[in-house]
Amino acid sequence: MKQGMAIHYDPRLVEEAVFHVQRDSFVRQELDEQRKRIYEVPDPDQRERQFLDLNRTWFNRLGLGNGVEAALREQPLITAQVGNCFILCAIAVKEESAELFVAQDTRLENPPERTLRILLRPESLLNAVSLKTFLRHELFHIADMLDPAFGYEPTLPKAEGGPTYDTLITNRYRVLWDVTINGRMARRGWCDTSVREQQLGDFRRAFPMLQEGAEELFAKFFDLDQPQHSDLARFAFDPRQASGSLQRHAAPGTHCPLCKFPTHAFEPSPNNLGTDILAVINEDFPNWAPSFGLCTQCADLYRARQMSMAALRLLPGWTPSAARARAGT
Ligand SMILES: [Zn+2]
Ligand SMILES: [Zn+2]
Repeated sequence: MKQGMAIHYDPRLVEEAVFHVQRDSFVRQELDEQRKRIYEVPDPDQRERQFLDLNRTWFNRLGLGNGVEAALREQPLITAQVGNCFILCAIAVKEESAELFVAQDTRLENPPERTLRILLRPESLLNAVSLKTFLRHELFHIADMLDPAFGYEPTLPKAEGGPTYDTLITNRYRVLWDVTINGRMARRGWCDTSVREQQLGDFRRAFPMLQEGAEELFAKFFDLDQPQHSDLARFAFDPRQASGSLQRHAAPGTHCPLCKFPTHAFEPSPNNLGTDILAVINEDFPNWAPSFGLCTQCADLYRARQMSMAALRLLPGWTPSAARARAGT
């Protein structure tokens, strides 16, 4: 590893990863004998220390950290700028992630202290192929955040329609960023080429207002080698304006009064959304009435607000305090 970044493994992750491998007979026999000897050590602190050392020795001998370390080495921006990297033990698949923490010293002349936290399940360390793809994707997010050319900002500007629209825009931003990451990964041969189709599907679902123009705009992001946060944010906010190509696709008078996007798919009976949903819409848009109509994407957004909140939390480094307060979590 390049000098500068220290990697720290969670002892529990080390112990459980070694435990998962010991099904292998040669490992189990040797490990059992070494464990038995440690059990005979009378001093509990010394015994504990020896168990930690034993697990660590086997972890190294079995090369269980190799995948993580190789993935980190592929991103020189990370190894050069991050001081400490903690590899911690995750319980559930959905907890697996990489997060960057930045602490700025009060004296601005000191460089900020950057810490990377990677959460993995012990069994994930044993599956080299899927671990590699997963880490490459996650570490691309982190490398972008550290890249001055990407110009990352931890918060997006507030949406006009309040927290519900903040969620919508955050989800769109997340899809766009993933499209640019998976495009770059595909060109490096880091993932299957089928990723393009799958990403186009995600893009269409996130930007249904683009209709027939979607594929061309998708390609601009997927084929981009140097994406910029500000471009992704601008497109997430107003794909119509940012693409400059939509007006000619939209029929006049077919804009949704809530999201202001051109639409051919209006919610058939807004009155049937139910009083709870209508009340929430009116909180965000006090002058709106069901007779004004809304597009199906907006209707779905309000119907699935809880789900959107869950998706929002998946964005690395995103702390939606306002949205969280409203969701009551
Ligand atoms: Zn991602
Ligand atoms: Zn709408």
